[in-house]
Amino acid sequence: MQYGNPPDEINEAAAMTSHQHPPEKMMFQLTLRRRGISDQAVLRTMEEVPRELFVDEADRDGAYRESALPIACGQTISQPFVVAYMTEQLQLQKQHRVLEIGTGSGYQAAVLSRLAGQVLTVERYRKLADTARARLEKLDCHNVEVMLGDGLNLPPNIGPFDRIIVTAAMEQIPENLIGRLEVGGILIAPVGPHQGVQTLTRLIRTEAGIERKELVEVRFVPALPGVAREL
Ligand code: SAH
Repeated sequence: MQYGNPPDEINEAAAMTSHQHPPEKMMFQLTLRRRGISDQAVLRTMEEVPRELFVDEADRDGAYRESALPIACGQTISQPFVVAYMTEQLQLQKQHRVLEIGTGSGYQAAVLSRLAGQVLTVERYRKLADTARARLEKLDCHNVEVMLGDGLNLPPNIGPFDRIIVTAAMEQIPENLIGRLEVGGILIAPVGPHQGVQTLTRLIRTEAGIERKELVEVRFVPALPGVAREL
């Protein structure tokens, strides 16, 4: 019996707590589960993607709290539950081609990249697109393409997609987007007034047409037309 050194298992427990499972990350997982996220692949991905790298340096300590945070250009990174919930609703498979409108920080795109085949994410602010692209490259998300553009008015040659996720509020879902969905495809978007509360809405394209379901209330920054003039 050695004295002076703590037993190995205590060392291991301490190492786990400080590196792999800091308390705030354990709470993060618990909160997602408690709020109803049950897809194991989604939960694992939420655990693996380092949200602290997608928020401003000043906000890193709070990166795993259940709240939206401000990012550059007056935009926001969504609260973790909403990211997990929207991802779960997409029922992603490894071969899926996914379109995201509203790259923002790139966090949602990083989550999608681990669960899908190819991700195209579109952002109207050059500064946000460039920052997100650099982050995603650093994290080896090589299946994500970040495009500067207007998700409300995409060139006709883009698509079709198995999944479309809109992370900015739309008063209605443009036909121009619905038309890019494959049969069997799922689109999810916050639909409602630009100011205030929107309803997360899911569309499924079937052989017979579009099935529409309203899910939960959310608050997103608005989807605005055109590429932003400011950086
Ligand atoms: N998914 C992001 C959060 C999105 S915030 C994340 O994980 O961080 C909404 C983003 O949509 C903002 O960055 C905003 O600039 C962008 N946006 C708004 N209208 C857009 C449009 N028409 N085309 C592309 N991006 C748009």
